[in-house]
Amino acid sequence: MAAHKEVLRGVTKKPPHIRRRETPEAVKVAARQAVREALDECVLVRLWYCESCHQECKTMAAHKDYYEPLDVWWLCHVCHADYDLHGIDPKTLKL
Ligand SMILES: [Zn+2]
Repeated sequence: MAAHKEVLRGVTKKPPHIRRRETPEAVKVAARQAVREALDECVLVRLWYCESCHQECKTMAAHKDYYEPLDVWWLCHVCHADYDLHGIDPKTLKL
């Protein structure tokens, strides 16, 4: 079985009482690893432009929910920082 599927199972399939024992940082690390492995296996494709400002760049995966590790927005570093640090919704287009 592919490693990312094991990571996904580890993050998403555990019952809530087990999930609570996972530290938030451990869940984030597992989600990031799942994205890396999904990219390596072409399960996930990185967009070549930011979904928020539409700037052409090397995008970063921004997780909407770390328990859904492959449900991401592809954002430039500026929009990713706006989302992570200031909670600015990437769907608010910055054109
Ligand atoms: Zn952007």
